[in-house]
Amino acid sequence: MSDKDNNQDVNPSGPDIEEPKDDEHYEKVCYMCRRPESKAGQMISMPGGMNLCHDCMQKAFDSVTKGGMDFSKLGNIPYMNMNLSDLNTTPPAMEIPKKQKIKKKTQEQPVLTMKDIPAPHIIKSRLDEYVIGQEKAKKVVAVAVYNHYKRAFLDNRSAQGDAAPDEDIVIEKSNILMIGPTGSGKTYLVKTLARLLDVPLAIADATSLTEAGYIGDDIESVVSKLLAAADNDVERAQRGIIFIDEIDKIAKKKQTNTRDVSGESVQQELLKLLEGSTVEVPVGSNQKNAMTPMATVNTDNILFICGGAFPDLEEIIKERLKKKSSMGFGSVLKDTYDNDPDILKHVTNEDLRAFGMIPEFLGRLPVTVTLQGLTEDMMVRILKEPKNAITKQYEKLLSMDEVKLVFEDDALRWIAEEAGKRGTGARALRAILEEFMLDIMYEIPKDSNIGSVVVTRPYLEKNGGPLIQMRG
Ligand code: ADP
Repeated sequence: MSDKDNNQDVNPSGPDIEEPKDDEHYEKVCYMCRRPESKAGQMISMPGGMNLCHDCMQKAFDSVTKGGMDFSKLGNIPYMNMNLSDLNTTPPAMEIPKKQKIKKKTQEQPVLTMKDIPAPHIIKSRLDEYVIGQEKAKKVVAVAVYNHYKRAFLDNRSAQGDAAPDEDIVIEKSNILMIGPTGSGKTYLVKTLARLLDVPLAIADATSLTEAGYIGDDIESVVSKLLAAADNDVERAQRGIIFIDEIDKIAKKKQTNTRDVSGESVQQELLKLLEGSTVEVPVGSNQKNAMTPMATVNTDNILFICGGAFPDLEEIIKERLKKKSSMGFGSVLKDTYDNDPDILKHVTNEDLRAFGMIPEFLGRLPVTVTLQGLTEDMMVRILKEPKNAITKQYEKLLSMDEVKLVFEDDALRWIAEEAGKRGTGARALRAILEEFMLDIMYEIPKDSNIGSVVVTRPYLEKNGGPLIQMRG
């Protein structure tokens, strides 16, 4: 549709710009949204007879300024007729929504010092307050994280030209591969770690990642998530942690005639991120398009932790160990492997390759951590010991009604037994407990004379109610 097609109200006054005489009788139409001047307001004229309404102009500016351009320089753009004086307005205020602000690197950025890096025993002791059992895993993670941030510290120093002469020794990244059954605390361990270290954390699911160009999230979206978790502060994001869960689901398929979109190729694409590269990621969105501002993030000092349950890996390990033991004197040991609940700790790269992980990928995850399946004893401890244990949370809630809540040990044991049957590790604990606590949390506040409630095993087995004692 041309301007001439638009024979609505004529607005001959228009801006002061000289227009060809013919156009005087026609209303201007916005080149982008096609609204006439009577609807969209006064137009901004551009060379070549192009007109833009304020809204569209603003959108165009926004997309530029959010990408980091300084609006104050706009006045110097010679080929753009801003008509700002005609409009009798100051340039539109560049209100950038908070979420979309990209924090720029500044010289005064706090520098990472050795003092900021807690020693491994401190990291471990703080993890102990939350994560039950998994002693070896906590120790390995604490050391890996300590080394990782030391490496980042050295990087920082050489970036500032402060490096000592021996600092041409390159410390490799200590990305972590975390193997353990569902609900054994992999995600929980990583979340706790990020909170203790006060670094941003992004959690992604490997199954949702696809090779660029396929439907699904592209690989770089994980960095985008981290940037969002760091409040769009690029410096902070560059020292964060990315946890990629369900990594076993991108194992190479054993036999495949079709193109393997979600498996091996995703491992291939992850390689660069894991070893450290510079990526352009959209800010405030995981979609790249012309209107989304971009930020450059270096993944060199980002700690990557890849976790997975790796079902059937135990069988692969047992097979290998049995084969080895049958070759020597050790054949008597064969059965011991079958009964070893912590067989995962014997895992080697060879086993993981047999599972379907490609060697290059494993090479980028030099630290392997295994978590044990939770025993009933561990589950009982999880119910009551961590700083934020579920039972402690209920006790606190009822204490606000001045009611003392007590869980009998036998009752906790029953919950652990039930959770064990569900096979989802500690994840089932909360669900089971919540089911029984609902009535208590509903009924108790009704009667202000109630002084204490004891949750007993018979109550959970539906053979009675909780023990209630009145005040006084
Ligand atoms: P995974 O990632 O291994 O499948 P999660 O870390 O999501 O399992 O565990 C589920 C929940 O179970 C956690 O949110 C946490 O509350 C609890 N949990 C699991 N393992 C432990 C543990 N070792 N110590 C304390 N809590 C745990």
